Amino acid sequence: MPSWIDSANEAGCDFPVQNLPFGVFSEGSEQPRCCSAIGNRVIDLAALEEAGVLDAGGDGAVFGQPSLNAFMALGPKSWASVRARLTSVLRKDGDPALRESVALKGKTLVPMDQVQMHMPFQVADYTDFYSAKQHAFNVGTMFRGPENALPLNYLHIPIGYNGRASSVVVSGTEFRRPLGQLKAPDADAPRFGPCERLDFELEMGAVVGTPSTFGEPVSVAEADEMIFGYVLLNDWSARDIQAWEYVPLGPFQAKATATTISPWVVAKAALEPFRAPAPEREKPLLPYLDDPAPRNYSITLETALQPEGQAESRLSQTNAKYLYYSAAQQLAHHTSSGCPMRTGDLLGSGTISGPDKAQWGSLLELSWGGKEPFALAKGGERSFLEDGDTLTLRGWCEGDGYHIGFGECAGKVLAALNAK
Ligand code: MN
Repeated sequence: MPSWIDSANEAGCDFPVQNLPFGVFSEGSEQPRCCSAIGNRVIDLAALEEAGVLDAGGDGAVFGQPSLNAFMALGPKSWASVRARLTSVLRKDGDPALRESVALKGKTLVPMDQVQMHMPFQVADYTDFYSAKQHAFNVGTMFRGPENALPLNYLHIPIGYNGRASSVVVSGTEFRRPLGQLKAPDADAPRFGPCERLDFELEMGAVVGTPSTFGEPVSVAEADEMIFGYVLLNDWSARDIQAWEYVPLGPFQAKATATTISPWVVAKAALEPFRAPAPEREKPLLPYLDDPAPRNYSITLETALQPEGQAESRLSQTNAKYLYYSAAQQLAHHTSSGCPMRTGDLLGSGTISGPDKAQWGSLLELSWGGKEPFALAKGGERSFLEDGDTLTLRGWCEGDGYHIGFGECAGKVLAALNAK
């Protein structure tokens, strides 16, 4: 299904007409507003809405806002009709409303290299899971040995913790190395200083569109209906701060510094052709989580590190299909207590590692707890992240003659403030 916008039809283009992701952009000093992407162009959805070419079915200007929340809250019928309308005005043989209006094209299609991308949605709450079994096995093996690697609960429950919405940032945001309490295993007392074991975590983020009701659990199938789309997510992690603080309530400041997401939310509808089967289960799940439907996705995921002023080296390449629990299962579990989910809730999948070392999604694993520094292909080595390092996540699905990309999820580590 080609588009009349040629750049969308080029091999390897992240944004063909089959993708149509959603984001928020601005150009120059303009107000941020909602957009989609086609080829090398951003599509100004607010301008299309104003011109009467696009109607999400809400009250007022749904897309003229600096977040996707109003659109996401309208629910699956609105998402489907907007996607169908955009597809129709962008495909080669579709509705000419945009294609044949020079004025509207000039107003609506903005070269991607001229725009600033912003946080695509206002994060209501952020929860991070631990749903790739290989990652849990690797980390457990480091601390407890391979026999006791998986926690007792692992095969029964999607483990997670409540994270911080306030420090979720969009790709391109730089941040300072965190300060925190550190205690070496042989030290008598903790000290306060810059994290020495700063890491990244390769994850997918599921974005909740429609809310659930206080006190009412939802089924896995209902949960899947609530999900608007997916982003790439980097859960920056201070391993040394975590090691000292996490007993007995789990990660706190170790995960609070920053969480980076890609600027594009790829709609669930665009990922439908890439559904992957549920993994083999060693133990049956309780009925409220049991779900034979293929709710994972086959998405190739890649991590790369660029030291300051040097060339980028790829670290690993894995796939989202390795998740032991789908986002729909995580979401159903999240509501099992009666906890209501809101428009803009963000669920981190957990670090996605595959069976082979080349598929591991953190430096903790790639350097085996810092004991075996990881050699960078373009020179140098890393146990953990250094100041000036830029870590980039990429993700894509290969369709039949097209490619659905997530764009990039990148962040740069700056030196810590002076510890006081
Ligand atoms: Mn994580």
